Amino acid sequence: MEHPENNEEYKGLTVNAGIEQPSMINPYLKLRKKPRRRDFTVAEYVEGIVKGNVTILSQAVTLVESVKPEHQALAQEVIEKCLPYSGNSVRIGISGVPGAGKSTSIDVFGLHVLEKGGKLAVLAIDPSSERTKGSILGDKTRMEKLSVHPKAFIRPSPSAGSLGGVARKTRETVILCEAAGFDKIFVETVGVGQSETAVHSMVDFFLLIQLAGTGDELQGIKRGIMEMADGIVINKADGNNIEKAKLAASHFRNALHLFPTPDSGWTPKVLTYSGFYGLGVKEIWDMIDEYFVFVKKNGYFDYRRNEQAKYWMYETINEHLRDSFYNNPTIETMLAAKEQDVLNGRQTSFVAAKHLLDTYYRLLK
Ligand code: GDP
Repeated sequence: MEHPENNEEYKGLTVNAGIEQPSMINPYLKLRKKPRRRDFTVAEYVEGIVKGNVTILSQAVTLVESVKPEHQALAQEVIEKCLPYSGNSVRIGISGVPGAGKSTSIDVFGLHVLEKGGKLAVLAIDPSSERTKGSILGDKTRMEKLSVHPKAFIRPSPSAGSLGGVARKTRETVILCEAAGFDKIFVETVGVGQSETAVHSMVDFFLLIQLAGTGDELQGIKRGIMEMADGIVINKADGNNIEKAKLAASHFRNALHLFPTPDSGWTPKVLTYSGFYGLGVKEIWDMIDEYFVFVKKNGYFDYRRNEQAKYWMYETINEHLRDSFYNNPTIETMLAAKEQDVLNGRQTSFVAAKHLLDTYYRLLK
């Protein structure tokens, strides 16, 4: 086309049409462009996951973790379609206070179980973790060997939120991982309180990592957590620490004797080991294998999974109801005022709660 600047007005000035540009130096550049993350359809996600495509699995997990309602809706569909492919795994919860040696141990435990074949997913529940600041749990650099193992998938804890929410996301991730062919699932949690209950509600075997202390090691550990354990293992049984570890183990054994036999009929075992030197790892896994044979035979394995499914149905209902209530804009504004009324003694807690709930129910109509 004739350039407008070649008009009469611009006499004396001619502008030539530009020359054709050479083709791109790298003609493949365009082809390498990946499809954008959430452009997959439900069917594509499911197909990718079932084929064991780890990139698609990771993206589906990101979807599960997203707080956006449209992502959640898509995630739920993917999970539902993956459900028939899930369940075929052993799920093991691993807990211990920071410094107990969880990452060191998971690294060796992981390599040990992978020697027999199969695929391992390591997930985590840490309600305090903030993904951007680097999660304390599930951080790949903490598990040096596993993180580069082709058959291992490591995913840090979903970032901070309510424990119930974080735990639900991890449980949903378990389903996706199983559908992707991961037949061994480790769920790690830090040994401080409620998160153990959450992990316990999604695993078949709960392993508690302890350290030998100063002789009163039983004091720091809550009875409830000990009661959940199917196995207690005392780490760092190496060097000068071996005798102390053995002593700690016998304290734990004595303490466990005082508890009633768990529903599983399995008496929790106490072992010592060294994650760092890889000593006693085989014995731990023999114990876990023995447990699985035992509970599969007596029916407890299926019973526990069914109970967990029921538990998660109620948990999900609770979470939705709570969110629906607390995220309601009218309720949000009312809450601050009501809180003051209660603090100033103008209203009792019960009256204030009733008033808020009545308002909420009216809004629903
Ligand atoms: P986490 O916080 O529970 O994940 O614990 P880490 O795995 O990061 O271990 C904490 C510290 O204990 C690290 O310095 C490890 O090197 C050390 N550690 C872990 N396992 C053992 C072990 O079996 N023996 C000894 N002596 N040290 C260990």
